[in-house]
Amino acid sequence: MAKDSPPRGTFTEKLQVPEALTFDDVLLRPAESRVEPDEADVSTRVSTNIDLEIPILSAAMDTVTEAETAIQMAREGGLGVLHRNMEPERAVEEVERVKRADETIIRRENVVTADPDQTVSEVDEMMSAEGVSGAPVVDEDDTVLGIISGTDIRPYLELGDFDAVREAMTDEVITAHEDVTPRQALELMYEHKIERVPIVDTEDHLAGLVTMQGILARREHQDAVRDEKGRLRIGVAVGPFEQDRAKAVDDAGADALFIDTAHAHNLNVVDSAREIKDMVDADVVVGNIGTAEAARDIVDFADGLKVGIGPGSICTTRVVSGAGMPQVTAVAEVADVAKEHDVPVIADGGIRYSGDAAKALAAGADAVMLGSYFAGTQEAPGRVITIKGKKYKQYRGMGSVGAMQSGGGDRYLKEESEDEEFVPEGVEAATPYKGTLSGELHQLVGGIQSGMGYAGAESVIELQSEAEFVRVSQAGQQESHPHDVMITDEA
Ligand code: 5GP
Repeated sequence: MAKDSPPRGTFTEKLQVPEALTFDDVLLRPAESRVEPDEADVSTRVSTNIDLEIPILSAAMDTVTEAETAIQMAREGGLGVLHRNMEPERAVEEVERVKRADETIIRRENVVTADPDQTVSEVDEMMSAEGVSGAPVVDEDDTVLGIISGTDIRPYLELGDFDAVREAMTDEVITAHEDVTPRQALELMYEHKIERVPIVDTEDHLAGLVTMQGILARREHQDAVRDEKGRLRIGVAVGPFEQDRAKAVDDAGADALFIDTAHAHNLNVVDSAREIKDMVDADVVVGNIGTAEAARDIVDFADGLKVGIGPGSICTTRVVSGAGMPQVTAVAEVADVAKEHDVPVIADGGIRYSGDAAKALAAGADAVMLGSYFAGTQEAPGRVITIKGKKYKQYRGMGSVGAMQSGGGDRYLKEESEDEEFVPEGVEAATPYKGTLSGELHQLVGGIQSGMGYAGAESVIELQSEAEFVRVSQAGQQESHPHDVMITDEA
């Protein structure tokens, strides 16, 4: 308190405090319902201009979200948020990888091409190293001379693998121009019984490639979240004072920037976030906060508010600092302010089960962000380790010593100097390996939809407006989990 501020009453008065609740303190009250869980609509909005098909985000953590997770999250209808423990140049590359992933036309710089004078065996090796099964053959000017595929090569492999590509390639190439639609490209491929069509410019120079496999893969993901150019969407974490990173990833096509700090109600952070918002085209989500006052100071310029002061599974903020807000109350406080301004709210951290996600949405969140839930998936960065015959992946807090030493200590508004160590606010851990992200998302979304069925809510907005909570006693909480049995098959 500043010196001249009026006294705020006595210390004993200060202890007459409001109660704040978290996930285990409440349950959704079952209500009359005609909602079949499978039909409950989980589409939502994560920021002013970004709609999602499922209300789920993967956390901006270096053991959770890089391009691979982000690609899969967007394909499944959610959003991955790239962490920032990497140089801005690499963040740009990761954004570009996501943006390229599902493009109908593979752009020139990413097309694997063959040279007419290479030998057949060289091209065979090159194609298997690059993971492609065919390649346009171009001359020095990039003029398309032919196309070579596994089928062309096979007859040569035994007898003439030193023959030149020019002998083996198909030289009557079917090409298309850059304005070709996926449907037209598919029709061409069916008509000519081919699997790839080089895209050429007006001078017949190679400009890209369309493949049957690419088009079919894209069709598999009907619910994918895409930008106006049809590319997958991605969110990117930027430090509160990292204007350069913000500009770079914005230029690379990031859809939303997540101002990433443990205490966004720090007024220097608010000032800087406001400046970043003025600099970029992407939506700007600001977090984390946990109170109505913080929401009021930020809501006028932010495209989304992210809530969570200390609920995360790997987080020690509350024990280290003595500060924090139980997550359900925090979400509700922020959502009360955000709704008045029509700004979406994201509940970040502490979600262990799908039921927690349903509760967060009912408490006013438009979407939820999870770290530990996804850290054990195949797509998360890092390798699988085996301990006593069980498979695990590493999961660490971004405020853990290891993560802060790799950058990003400023999330906790901290810097390490030569003679002073970090004060960590997170731990390093291992989490069981869980298989694919898509399998985890299926369970999570299915659980949220069940919650909507019990609450009688057809949509996320109805869940927010109609669902009621009951307070759970400790005995009630025990009753909520499997009890008095020996579990033989973990769900
Ligand atoms: P989880 O889903 O694992 O419960 O929580 C993930 C969230 O915890 C992240 O999205 C982030 O907001 C927060 N977080 C990540 N690392 C740390 C940390 O080291 N300390 C704190 N206080 N929070 C963290």
